[in-house]
Amino acid sequence: MTRIVRDIRSALEFYEALGYERLPILMQADRRRPVSDTKETAMKLLRDEIGDCQRCKLAGKRTHIVFGEGNPDARLMFIGEAPGREEDIQARPFVGDAGVLLTRLIEKMGLKREDVYIANVVKCRPPMNRDPEKDEIEQCRRFLESQIDIIMPEIIISLGRIAAFTLIGNEKLKITAVRGRVFDYKGIPLVPTFHPAYLIRNPKDKWLTWNDAQKVLEMLEHGHNIQEVD
Ligand code: URA
Repeated sequence: MTRIVRDIRSALEFYEALGYERLPILMQADRRRPVSDTKETAMKLLRDEIGDCQRCKLAGKRTHIVFGEGNPDARLMFIGEAPGREEDIQARPFVGDAGVLLTRLIEKMGLKREDVYIANVVKCRPPMNRDPEKDEIEQCRRFLESQIDIIMPEIIISLGRIAAFTLIGNEKLKITAVRGRVFDYKGIPLVPTFHPAYLIRNPKDKWLTWNDAQKVLEMLEHGHNIQEVD
């Protein structure tokens, strides 16, 4: 089976599992329900499916699942690594120190947090903020992929090495080598950049992430030819 057929099939199976008999895009054409309403419902159903997740060993130590938040109709999606201490307490992504920096970046881009969607590779805090492990990433992967399928953003910005390799599929990649380049994630341009927590420790590199953000703004304004991707 070619990749595109596989992708279409998995998208159809996903919507079928959510109880749809017709694709939401047809509903929009029918003007029965606005697409954002449908996406919001799909997001709620996905959150219900995660439930009180016990699928991996992170479940035992977390306070809250951090599902993700923002506009389900967002043109731009940010994907981080995993919730930290503050996120675990508040059940919201990027609300600690790294979140302050991410929010500043979003605002510098002329956007608000409510305009974009923010999610993480894993939805539960790893103990002592260690990196999420392979089995934890794999257990959570389908939920992140479903969030992307629902939102269908025009561009994804991944934050840090873990989010980049989870989406690009190369465990050995170096964030310094891939940041600012454009990759193809299932037909969606993906631009990796540094994690805000790294930028707090290395403020001299902030200008590189700003360059990446400007490139994304340019792509949002003028479109991007997927043929140009790495
Ligand atoms: N770091 C992340 O990768 N995600 C968060 O939500 C917070 C900090």
